[in-house]
Amino acid sequence: MSIKDRLLQIKQQLPETVKLVVVSKYHSPEEILEVYNEGVRDFGENHAQELIPKYELLPKDIAWHYIGTLQRNKVKQIIPFVSLIQSVSSEALYDEIVKRASAISRKVDILFQIHIAQEETKSGFAIEEAKETILKLSLRSEDNPYRRVRGLMGMATLTDDSSQIKKEFRELHTLYESIKKELPMEVAASFDTLSMGMSSDWPLAVSEDSNLVRIGTAIMGERNYNR
Ligand SMILES: *Cc1c(COP(=O)(O)O)cnc(C)c1O
Repeated sequence: MSIKDRLLQIKQQLPETVKLVVVSKYHSPEEILEVYNEGVRDFGENHAQELIPKYELLPKDIAWHYIGTLQRNKVKQIIPFVSLIQSVSSEALYDEIVKRASAISRKVDILFQIHIAQEETKSGFAIEEAKETILKLSLRSEDNPYRRVRGLMGMATLTDDSSQIKKEFRELHTLYESIKKELPMEVAASFDTLSMGMSSDWPLAVSEDSNLVRIGTAIMGERNYNR
């Protein structure tokens, strides 16, 4: 199947209320354009050094999502153009994003990444401690001109055990709802994104109320790590 066929197949299965971000890391600008030409405008990347040349080369109406571990010293380079940083995984990173956005008077959308998987290698706020910190940062009104807290992102354990995956997504959904409930109305109004689900587990994520899926391999094909 071609990239186009795989994209159309997933689009057919995806409820209209769920936003699709196509994860284009390790894929060429030509492959990204194939997807772009089918109307997709949201793409996800996880390395600044790969994202920046793609941003420069590709059409400027692409909304770039940053979905990987973000080093603080790379924030400055991506902040002028990135659309949604999905992987805010520490208070220090949050502070750096606000600082760099403020320096150029830009407002950037962010999601807090929550650690829901069993693997220690995955990053994010520990689910038990996330709520307090996220409420605190979301209520920092002096940051309002520079960031909009849009919601939460998480990655489930890589396993064949779908009940485990569902349980992790459900925990993230519960946390999302409980944070949203405690935010003042004007902040809660834009806290509207629950990003969970990738190629192997997106149907489970959607069944647990994800409203943004990040799909790479199932659309773009296998990644070429030698590029
Ligand atoms: C790579 C990546 C994806 C996409 O993974 P696929 O299995 O190829 O769909 C989604 N989310 C994050 C955070 C990623 O790093």
